[in-house]
Amino acid sequence: MKKINIAVIGGGASGLFYAMTAADLLKKERINAQITVFEKENRIGRKLLATGNGKCNLSNEKSGGAFYSGSFAQCADTLLQKYNAQNIAGKFKRYGLYCTPDSEGRIYPYSRQASAVLDCMLIKLEGEKSVVVKCGEAVNRVKAENGDYAVVTDSGEYRSDYVIMAFGGMATPSLGSDGSGFGLLRSMGITVNKPFPSLCPVYVQGKRLKNLKGIRCKCAASLIADGDMLKTEYGELQITENALSGICIFQLSRYINEFFALGTADGKKVAKILIDIDLFPDMAEGELFELLKWRRDNIEKITVEQYFIGLVNKRLGIAIYKESGFEVPLDSDAKTLDNDDLLNLAHCLKSWRFTPAGPSKWDNAQVTAGGISAHELDRNTLEIKKYPNVYCIGEAVDIDGICGGYNLHWAWTSALVCAGATVRSAKKRFNGGIANDKNT
Ligand SMILES: Cc1cc2nc3c(=O)[nH]c(=O)nc-3n(C[C@H](O)[C@H](O)[C@H](O)COP(=O)(O)OP(=O)(O)OC[C@H]3O[C@@H](n4cnc5c(N)ncnc54)[C@H](O)[C@@H]3O)c2cc1C
Repeated sequence: MKKINIAVIGGGASGLFYAMTAADLLKKERINAQITVFEKENRIGRKLLATGNGKCNLSNEKSGGAFYSGSFAQCADTLLQKYNAQNIAGKFKRYGLYCTPDSEGRIYPYSRQASAVLDCMLIKLEGEKSVVVKCGEAVNRVKAENGDYAVVTDSGEYRSDYVIMAFGGMATPSLGSDGSGFGLLRSMGITVNKPFPSLCPVYVQGKRLKNLKGIRCKCAASLIADGDMLKTEYGELQITENALSGICIFQLSRYINEFFALGTADGKKVAKILIDIDLFPDMAEGELFELLKWRRDNIEKITVEQYFIGLVNKRLGIAIYKESGFEVPLDSDAKTLDNDDLLNLAHCLKSWRFTPAGPSKWDNAQVTAGGISAHELDRNTLEIKKYPNVYCIGEAVDIDGICGGYNLHWAWTSALVCAGATVRSAKKRFNGGIANDKNT
């Protein structure tokens, strides 16, 4: 069995950032220890390249537990306040990455290239003598053995002083993290709260979207739970053949998938959920009715079908008209629409409703909700209470953020917290000296 000092399981955002920052701290403390990163894929950091539509939204000027859900969200507040966007951007600056915010406070590399983030991380790691990266080597088991840990991989067995679980969740498994890490935790008797997809499109019942595929429009999307409006998000609605998408829907998807996984929405038991789309969020229903009347009375010689042109996407307007049970045929003069018709139409355009069809697919989810339960972790260090010197960071922890750079921000923050904790512990444990064998 080969001896190593710090085994990092997963070469994604959190595992790589851990290795970079822990290497710096080990040097500062003059501790001669070796960090080995095990990555099951043939390349490290694959998911990073796909983030932010290839631009990598890596943090957000606003920070704190309020932007997160999951059992660890409140515990993380102090850590997230301590390591805010300025700290994170400052760290990246030292590694060569210049970052700037957009008008909404979302932080990106100035070059707006996710590859720049990964390249800066790779350059730093390549220059680190204390870090070894082993690609194509999945960790299948971790077991406690006489104060150390046996780390069993596809191709070997190692004995390690510290283990950092940084294997991510289950979102977009084609990019690496496929949930196998949760099996590893469960095999160690550690509670994993049921994972479900978040920040993803939502499938809806029926075939109402089939002919509307490709339409994008401004809206307010709300989640209605047992008749009450639970959350409202503003933004661009994107319509696919059988799903609603766009950032406003992504933000609601967390609660919709929570409903399918746990029968709750934002922690409250609910029996029924609906999505309500308001296509005129800047106008009260009465104002929209006045606008609809004005169009009927003042636009010359248009049919009902033409009435929607210049108001909303024509296909969308006609689809809503058809499914709302109007009796006036589409080829009639628009002047035949009476005030009751227009009141009804104003209501339908302000409240276009859908029933979610079932859980979203992991394949196009950006984040995993659920994961290692908060009660298993030390909230200051992220050490697993049952297993001293074993830590869990990143998306594997039961904490998930909204869109806007919050999930990567947690990956970096948790890595920094854990790097500080492991190096402090190593300093005490080895009093400045761990045998280092880079050839293991
Ligand atoms: C398409 C997409 C776009 C996104 N955009 C953004 C964005 O712009 N901003 C944002 O904040 N967040 C974004 N996210 C979310 C963000 O990428 C993740 O939250 C973040 O990468 C989590 O980091 P992690 O290190 O915990 O997990 P990961 O980055 O998933 O890394 C885990 C690594 O562990 C490896 N691994 C898994 N199991 C094992 C094992 N048993 N042995 C060895 N290796 C293993 C995996 O192959 C993987 O490389 C996006 C996600 C997706 C899918």
